[in-house]
Amino acid sequence: MKLHCEVEVISRHLPALGLRNRGKGVRAVLSLCQQTSRSQPSARAFLLISTLKDKRGTRYELRENIEQFFTKFVDEGKATVRLKEPPVDICLSKANSSSLKGFLSAVRLAHRGCKVDIPVSTLTPVKTSEFENFKTKMVITSKKDYPLSKNFPYSLEHLQTSYCGLVRVDMRMLCLKNLRKLDLSHNHIKKLPATIGDLIHLQELNLNDNHLESFSVALCQSTLQKSLRTLDLSKNKIKALPVQFCQLQELTNLKLDDNEMIQFPCKIGQLINLRFLSAARNKLPFLPSEFRNLSLEYLDLFGNTFEQPKVLPVIKLQAPLTLLESSARTILYNRIPYGSHIIPFHLCQDLDIAKTCVCGRFCLNSFIQGTTTMNLHSVAHTVVLVDNMGGTEAPIVSYFCSLGCYVNSSDMLK
Ligand SMILES: [Zn+2]
Repeated sequence: MKLHCEVEVISRHLPALGLRNRGKGVRAVLSLCQQTSRSQPSARAFLLISTLKDKRGTRYELRENIEQFFTKFVDEGKATVRLKEPPVDICLSKANSSSLKGFLSAVRLAHRGCKVDIPVSTLTPVKTSEFENFKTKMVITSKKDYPLSKNFPYSLEHLQTSYCGLVRVDMRMLCLKNLRKLDLSHNHIKKLPATIGDLIHLQELNLNDNHLESFSVALCQSTLQKSLRTLDLSKNKIKALPVQFCQLQELTNLKLDDNEMIQFPCKIGQLINLRFLSAARNKLPFLPSEFRNLSLEYLDLFGNTFEQPKVLPVIKLQAPLTLLESSARTILYNRIPYGSHIIPFHLCQDLDIAKTCVCGRFCLNSFIQGTTTMNLHSVAHTVVLVDNMGGTEAPIVSYFCSLGCYVNSSDMLK
């Protein structure tokens, strides 16, 4: 039985000698070995740690020799085995968590002197090829190179499979818990599984040139919120993104070129870390009011179907305000937390897409809507011209919660 992971063997005498460990593991293959001899009918069990430099490996006796197991982070692929003799801590990391669990239970059995039911390895040097399992990067750019029978090395941090004709995301990729960069560009993927959100380290996701029609709410609310920095959705068939998309707060780089977007998510201003935004060649008629809150380095909105700002505002004021409108405004203004466990789900949805007035207050159904033009330089350093006429202005919607707010800002609408 073997386990591929990173290992650091730390002597517990080091601190007493005033020394410290390096704090860094090396790639290793751990083997659980059993040896029986005529003189000793009960099997002796060893843990053999082989590295690329030391393929024959170092042996550690296991039987009744384990002082303690530290398995708090076993789900993250980390664990430590503390031996009695020699007095060392064997720290394992970057392991596949289910393999690690299996391996540790076998080690536990060996420690107790039980017979291990699984095939145990013999004490032979580890082949260099075994260390290939530690590959961190794999780039596949044609269908014929795509692995069908072999698994992807679990240690991959960067995986690219382009031009492979994939129609869906391969479930084997979703087990690669160390993935930071996943490039699935130039395939035929129509839908993304919500389980992509289980890749807790995923920082870059490239889906350029696929057949996507949406980006699901489940993905927006997954752990991608904490990890995803770069997202390329260009050359797909996306018409709109859900309002929850703006919860992907770590996004710095978003590409939406060549889709069929008819609107940006209305809360786009919440993407406070966004620096690079391109949505060229879409069907945007105007920008949402929150677009003003962005602070970008680069913006490309070339080739959209921007409309001329309307001269007359749309007036939807209620007098007096309904109970729903007043309570919604109060909840949002006072930042009272809400959720579907307290109020009906459809009310949460309404609150999620409430409009922000220029005065900073909110409104649901009672408002005045006006369109103005904004110079895109006010939100971005570098602006690609929006049309062939050389303009950097685009129409933007504004909302006003009352007649007073509208009158006070009417200069803006000229
Ligand atoms: Zn207002």
